[in-house]
Amino acid sequence: MGYGAVRTPTRGRHWLWPAMAVLVAGALLATRSQAGERGQNRPGVWWYVPTTAKVVALTFDDGPNPPYTGQILAALTEAHARATFFVLGRQVVRYPQWVRAEVAAGMEVGNHSWSHENLRHLSEEAIRQELQRTQDAVHAAAGVTPTWMRPPYGAFGPATVKVNRALGLSMALWSWTEDSRDWANPGPDAIVRRVMGNLQPGDIVLFHDGGGDRSQTVAALRIILADLEAQGWRAVTLTELLAASDTGASSPGVKISRSTGAWASAPRSR
Ligand SMILES: [Zn+2]
Repeated sequence: MGYGAVRTPTRGRHWLWPAMAVLVAGALLATRSQAGERGQNRPGVWWYVPTTAKVVALTFDDGPNPPYTGQILAALTEAHARATFFVLGRQVVRYPQWVRAEVAAGMEVGNHSWSHENLRHLSEEAIRQELQRTQDAVHAAAGVTPTWMRPPYGAFGPATVKVNRALGLSMALWSWTEDSRDWANPGPDAIVRRVMGNLQPGDIVLFHDGGGDRSQTVAALRIILADLEAQGWRAVTLTELLAASDTGASSPGVKISRSTGAWASAPRSR
């Protein structure tokens, strides 16, 4: 068998994989454009808030996590910016002082479950315990009760929506173009580009203060806050973002439709 006879089919297979990747990417893009460029809002579930005001909600998941939570709070406070922290109950009981510090600095605290389980794999009762324990821990630490929750990995089903309604929680995911992917430590510049490159009014931006060394998040945040100010953006809490909605939604009260349509999972994240 000649050399070329081996090469040709090998080269053929090399063509196949990029072609398949393009097909898959095309299908994903088609799905997303049907759902909207930024996410798939539905009653009680927010991916962004429709508004023409230059406001954005910066959100930080998986904390509190010293020293990064404190460094992020300092950066936000210096920039006169506000944000929302989606805390884990198990972290709240370890570091209640940092939840108090978040509230004292004018930030909003949301519920990111107790233990960061995928809620799609839990029973309704287990989901209720994950969320209620965290509500109680935040209240014990800082005297406030969250009105927003974000499911770990952005994964949820009808049971989570049902429990949210019972607990008075609205769900906040994040805008599809505003996943900073900071957890992958891609470098502060990459984080800045991802966030600022596609920013639209009413976007919800996903960062993490927990889950590891978040030095890059802190460094990127300082640049992002300066850029936001220079470009006339205001960083607000989720409740403030909703109040800026053009469609008159003014409170995070949970409004659930009877629709039992397929409940989507968010893009993969921590
Ligand atoms: Zn998380």
